[in-house]
Amino acid sequence: MTHSTASAEFRFYEELNDFLPPERRRASFAYSVAGTRSVKDAIEAIGVPHTEVDLILVDGLSVGFDRVLRGGERVAVYPVFERLDIAPLQHLRPRPLREPRFVLDVHLGKLARNLRMAGFDCLYRNDYRDSALITAALAEHRIILTRDKGLLKQRLVTHAYFVRRTDSEEQLREVIHALQLDTGLRPFTRCRECNAQLRDVPKAQVLERLPSSVRASYDRFQLCPGCGRLYWEGTHYARLRRLLDRAAPADAGSRGY
Ligand SMILES: [Zn+2]
Repeated sequence: MTHSTASAEFRFYEELNDFLPPERRRASFAYSVAGTRSVKDAIEAIGVPHTEVDLILVDGLSVGFDRVLRGGERVAVYPVFERLDIAPLQHLRPRPLREPRFVLDVHLGKLARNLRMAGFDCLYRNDYRDSALITAALAEHRIILTRDKGLLKQRLVTHAYFVRRTDSEEQLREVIHALQLDTGLRPFTRCRECNAQLRDVPKAQVLERLPSSVRASYDRFQLCPGCGRLYWEGTHYARLRRLLDRAAPADAGSRGY
């Protein structure tokens, strides 16, 4: 077999294929590496954000992002959250953050509220600029959730996930599966509006705030110390319970969503 000395053969695995045009998905293809400074450069030029990549094999050996390609290599690229038994190999980033916390871009307000109701610490503002989002991510070790591929390619970004789905309930399901959040669910512990952690509050203490129908039907209440919002196991509770049951079913080990 012959090949141009200035091109290498690339193959992308699993959900990294989402970033490729159809003819390059799940197939090996040649790509010119002339003019690229590193394997990271080449991968991003092909269209895959580096934040999505956890493992690169060049001719069967794991390499860092800065590996220079000279042409003729076989390059296999694996996603961050792919579960492979690859312990001895060189991962490109630290292990996933132990208690995942998030910062979400301006497109993901509903997802932020749903994740908060599931118990996850989520920063969200509808006027976040990229720079503020990245600063928050770095300062507080937060994972960026975004629908913006351009943001993922920024040099400073280390932990981020590109949300594929557009429907907010499907996004919740997608993120829980892709980031393996199933075991971290703490439903109804956090305010969906302001992200503060909720506190149990005695019924007697909030009695005068309750509509008479609620006063008659509910006994457990939670108060948000951030915004003063009062929660009880009413319609929101039932809706989220159904949503989480669908998002994290018993066979949560499956990657399908
Ligand atoms: Zn609140």
